[in-house]
Amino acid sequence: MKQTHPASVIIVGGGTAGWMCAAYLAKQWGAKSHITLIESSQIGTVGVGEGSTPFLKQFFTDLGWQEQDWMPHCDATYKTGIEFANWTNSQRFSQYFHPFFTPLDQQTGELFFDSCQTLRSSRGNADVKPEHYFCAAEMVRKRVTPQSTKLPGDIDYAYHFDASKLALSLKSFSTQLGVQHKEGKVAEVYTEEGNIRGLRMEQGETLSADLYVDCSGFVGLLMKKALNAPFRSYRETLFNDAAVALPTQHNSNEPIAPQTRSVGMDNGWMWQIPLTSRIGNGYVYSSDFCSADEAEGALRKALNVDDLVPARHLKMQVGRLDEHWQGNCVAIGLAQGFIEPLEATALMLVQYALYQLVDGVDSAKPLASAQQAYNREMNRMFDGIRDYIAAHYYLNTRTDSAYWQACRHEMCVPENLQYLLDKWDSGACFETALDHLDSELVYLRPSWYCILAGMGRFNSPEAHQKAPVHQASLAHLAKLTAHYFSQQQRPRSGELTCGM
Ligand SMILES: Cc1cc2nc3c(=O)[nH]c(=O)nc-3n(C[C@H](O)[C@H](O)[C@H](O)COP(=O)(O)OP(=O)(O)OC[C@H]3O[C@@H](n4cnc5c(N)ncnc54)[C@H](O)[C@@H]3O)c2cc1C
Repeated sequence: MKQTHPASVIIVGGGTAGWMCAAYLAKQWGAKSHITLIESSQIGTVGVGEGSTPFLKQFFTDLGWQEQDWMPHCDATYKTGIEFANWTNSQRFSQYFHPFFTPLDQQTGELFFDSCQTLRSSRGNADVKPEHYFCAAEMVRKRVTPQSTKLPGDIDYAYHFDASKLALSLKSFSTQLGVQHKEGKVAEVYTEEGNIRGLRMEQGETLSADLYVDCSGFVGLLMKKALNAPFRSYRETLFNDAAVALPTQHNSNEPIAPQTRSVGMDNGWMWQIPLTSRIGNGYVYSSDFCSADEAEGALRKALNVDDLVPARHLKMQVGRLDEHWQGNCVAIGLAQGFIEPLEATALMLVQYALYQLVDGVDSAKPLASAQQAYNREMNRMFDGIRDYIAAHYYLNTRTDSAYWQACRHEMCVPENLQYLLDKWDSGACFETALDHLDSELVYLRPSWYCILAGMGRFNSPEAHQKAPVHQASLAHLAKLTAHYFSQQQRPRSGELTCGM
């Protein structure tokens, strides 16, 4: 059966995923499809998710949004990478930066790879700190935003934002494009031979459509519950299943650093995300090792916040569906799967799912082959991200808690991750190993080098020596800084940081 544009679409769920779907489908399919979004304020949304990857820039461009249109309304700031601290017990490798990359990194990037090779193959000591080689780190050090620099070319950067406010902006955009918004709870889902036949609202009304998009969050109302789609848990690999979040205020007039911080805790890690209005913080942990009260106590202590500031507790279901699109239903967002927020990839997956869905429908391929290709690609994305996230835990060298030791010794290590580590450890050509997995990897060469070097995965005795500094690389970055960074436009906390 060939596909045509669905004349009617029902999206169940008004979280960030639901409104991203509504906005994008309305923009792409316009008047060809009648789109309705149903949400229940009684149930509410997850409401966290403040970090993103550079891919999201494309989404706003696709909607026709300029940064000044949405950033001020969503308390948004720029992000040039993630700083990881306290993930090892080594002084030398106690902290590193995972940058987003720019074309200007090419020269110093090669120096970084060379230094890693030197230390990896015991050819001497070498500076393997990513932050000494990449422009993004220089932006953090100098507290400049990508927009306030005059860097040439296409610069990779991302955003931090208030996810609830972003959902509101998307809602207003979607409804202006004609998306119908229905408030209420879906009480029953009617199915027939692997398809959704209709929905009954709690108030009694029944609704039906050609295409159903399940954005109902972890509950997976349509796909998991009604269509019994199998869910593949990542629990054996990624142990964290809960989080507690707590906002704090900026406590100085220092310019905001354009980075997320990810700090190792006893039983997981803490995120710190600067928005213009506040800092979003949260402790992601495993409930096998730590109770909710203990996690909240540890977070309050780390942030020095008393009990008066309310904390928000969340449960996480980590894994993915085997089939994300089946029959006349597609699941997007938390309803299709979730990998914990360490690299802030969830909204990137929502965006990617939408692009694949629209391509699949527009390709006019027979439905079955479009669905097969879609499901294969979504699974590749989920598994590829899982592999990179798992590396953070597996590579830890902490010995101070049962949690960190379990991450090293009890993890079910994904096959591709094990393959890369074996090649890295054996001294074999790492580029060949990366090329070998090329079609399956989501994270590319620089990111793998950053994590392996940043966490100190070196057997050579030189890795235990004092860290040298690659002066030539730093001098090159300083030259770029002098040339391209404008010091006058540095953002201060509480000010807009969109550099407009
Ligand atoms: C601790 C944590 C940190 C995160 N950090 C990040 C991050 O840094 N970056 C990132 O990209 N992502 C992050 N995420 C993920 C991000 O929060 C989600 O991907 C995003 O919010 C989308 O969620 P959603 O819309 O799929 O689900 P939800 O927000 O849960 O929305 C579900 C919607 O479905 C509706 N619904 C459910 N059942 C019914 C029903 N019966 N009838 C009617 N409506 C119904 C609800 O009312 C709601 O509107 C994080 C998630 C967690 C848990």
